[in-house]
Amino acid sequence: MKRIEEMSLWERLYFPEVIRGLTVTGYRFWRNLTVHALHQFGLARDLQASVTVQYPDERAPYPETFRGRHRLTLKEDGTVQCTACFLCATACPAECIYIQAGEYPDNSVEKYPVRYEIDTLRCIYCGFCVEACPCDAIRMDSGTHPGNLGFSRMDFVETKEVLMKRSRELEEKGKEGLYEEYVKPYRHV
Ligand code: SF4
Ligand code: SF4
Repeated sequence: MKRIEEMSLWERLYFPEVIRGLTVTGYRFWRNLTVHALHQFGLARDLQASVTVQYPDERAPYPETFRGRHRLTLKEDGTVQCTACFLCATACPAECIYIQAGEYPDNSVEKYPVRYEIDTLRCIYCGFCVEACPCDAIRMDSGTHPGNLGFSRMDFVETKEVLMKRSRELEEKGKEGLYEEYVKPYRHV
């Protein structure tokens, strides 16, 4: 995007640009409408018109490599692997990871997250947190989908408990089971 001082006088007037935008939109609208109407009568088959997904009756397929769900990995004893080092939160460009560190009573070296939260409404699913983690404590698996988490803003804040539960779920149901549960409803019906 251009900065204001880089814009020509013509661009700074805005009105011509608004007209230009409306012209492009109007042209696309009428062209698509006409071509779709002609297709209904078996005409102009060689002309392609834009197609939109008729949501919610149809759903766009997610790429196989889509990674839209975080989880915190677990140690063998089922406790959280994370050492609350804050590297993921530092690397996060959306600043959507909140960590509150705590100390183990019997371990003066390692810490653990008392709170670990990801605000998924701010998350851009870039995966930087996964790359930044030095101990493989956070993962985003391919072939999984976050689903609809709720209807209030707080419902979209994933807590440590939610993120740990996902690792247990993956262990119990396997990737196939999770795929059936979370991805299949989002594919074409
Ligand atoms: S995926 Fe990116 S934006 Fe989302 S929590 Fe991780 S680093 Fe932040
Ligand atoms: S998830 Fe990894 S990078 Fe983030 S605080 Fe825990 S150990 Fe550090």
